[in-house]
This record gives sequence, structure tokens and C-alpha cells, in this order.
Amino acid sequence: MRSIVRPARKGRFWKYDPITKNLVLSSYHMTDENLPKYIAKIKEFSPDFFQGYPSAISILARFIKENNIDYFPSLKAVLCGSEPLYPWQRELFKEVFKCRVYSWYGHSEQVALAGECEKSTCYHIFPEYGVVELIGEDGQEVTEENKMGEIVATGLNNFAFPLIRYKTGDIGVYTKQACACGRDYPLLRRVEGRSQDLIVTKDKKLITLTALIFAQHFNAFSRVKEMQLIQEKEGGLLVKIVKSSQYLPKDEQEILSKIQSCVGGGLEVLFDYVDRIPRTKSGKYRFLIQKLPIKFGK
Ligand SMILES: [Zn+2]
Repeated sequence: MRSIVRPARKGRFWKYDPITKNLVLSSYHMTDENLPKYIAKIKEFSPDFFQGYPSAISILARFIKENNIDYFPSLKAVLCGSEPLYPWQRELFKEVFKCRVYSWYGHSEQVALAGECEKSTCYHIFPEYGVVELIGEDGQEVTEENKMGEIVATGLNNFAFPLIRYKTGDIGVYTKQACACGRDYPLLRRVEGRSQDLIVTKDKKLITLTALIFAQHFNAFSRVKEMQLIQEKEGGLLVKIVKSSQYLPKDEQEILSKIQSCVGGGLEVLFDYVDRIPRTKSGKYRFLIQKLPIKFGK
């Protein structure tokens, strides 16, 4: 998942792992120029599953959609991890790849594991792997529907270095709903990423990216090639946009008014139009660069 493929020779952005039978594609070189090569290679490989960062799969999916490229008929599911999967990404993947999308939550400290089932998009927490508590900003366990809290977990599998009530720094959204699949696991409605992925309004309220942008329906999104939010001061937000050729002047107004409808004027929003959004060193595409230190809870 986290590997960067060093091109063995020019124009080759993947490597085959014969032990796991995986074709590993670099998320670092996914430019419009290189993507046709990726797509040809994936077609030749004919995979059953895609597994990867949602941000990287989004780049591939958008390119396929924009260029009306055939989907990959061998695909049974798209498996997403290591980053939150936002609703618009799920819709895009379903539309482009014509199969179910699953997301899971886990991390290298191995204290918690949660994933989706075939009946819902909530994360089922596996209590035999680790005990998960969701702790709100007030320091108390969250029991209110749709309220966010920090995931605090006790792993049950690491006997060499047990972590007890480990504060993961990840934000989850609570639900007490039961899942139609009948598995009686505690559920998280969503995982929102790190607390550092939250946005601060003028009145110091913390807002998730899902609430601010991704749970809303934007017509403009289909005409935005890439987007990145940058927060440098409380109550301020810079929206960087790489336009597609269909981007319209009214699209900026739509994005602005939907953001304002969520925060009620709590953010001063500026727009900046750029040619590309730089990736991180590990090849990740980040929706939010949060430059403020975010402290969630006590
Ligand atoms: Zn279920």
C-alpha cells in the first residue's frame, strides 16, 4: 500500500510481487501522460480487486471517466484503506468500476480494526482484535448519534508491546444503529481521518471535511480536476482548484455558498486556481493541508 515504485526503466511505474501475486502501481507518477500506460498494464493484468489509497484511485477513476475508457470487467471490488473514503469517491468508483467499494480502518499500531460489510457502509469494529472507545471533545464517551470523537483503542493481539487505551488521533463518527447483516459488532458511521484533518471556524468549532464538503452534492465537482484546501489561520480557508476544461465561473459561487451553508459564515474562503496539486513525499494527494495545530478533546 505504501510502496513507491522506483521506475526500473523509463515508462514503467509498477512491479509485480510473485509472492502475493499483486501488481503494485506507483501512486507517485499518476499524471495524465502516464495514466494510459497504467490502464493498459491493469487491463493486461486483469485484477480481481483494486486495493489502495482512495486519493490515488480517484485520480485513476477521474481519468477513466473523462476519457470514456472501458472499465475493467474482471474487477469484483475496490478495497480502500489508509485514508478516509469520502462519499463522492465511493460514488465515483462505483460508477467507473461498476463494482462494490469497501473501506476498512486499521493502523500499524494494531490496536483496532474495523471494516464494512456487504449490507452497509458503516465500519464494523472487531472487538476480538481490539476494544474501541470513542471519546468526545468533552473527554466523555460519545453516545449521541452522528457525534464525532477520537478513537481510543486497546489492542488484544500484541503481547510483546500491549497498548492500553491508546489515543490514535483518528476521528470517528458514532452510530448506535444495528446493521442489517446481523453481525452484532459496534459500528462507526464514518472514519474522518486524523484530528489534523479537521477545520477550525472563527468561533473555534471543529468541522470535518465530510460535513464541510464531501457529504454535500456539488455540481461543480464534476468540473474540478483536483482540489486542495489549506488552512493557515483560524476561520480562514484557501481553496486551490485545478480546473477542467468545463469549469464555469458559477462553480466557484456554488462551492463558496455550500461551504458557507455548513459553517454559517464561520470561514473566510479564498480561491486560488493552479495547474497542479503537488503530492506528498509518499505519493499521497492531500485534500487538506492543515497548518494549525489541532487539539481535539482534553
Ligand atoms: Zn453489517
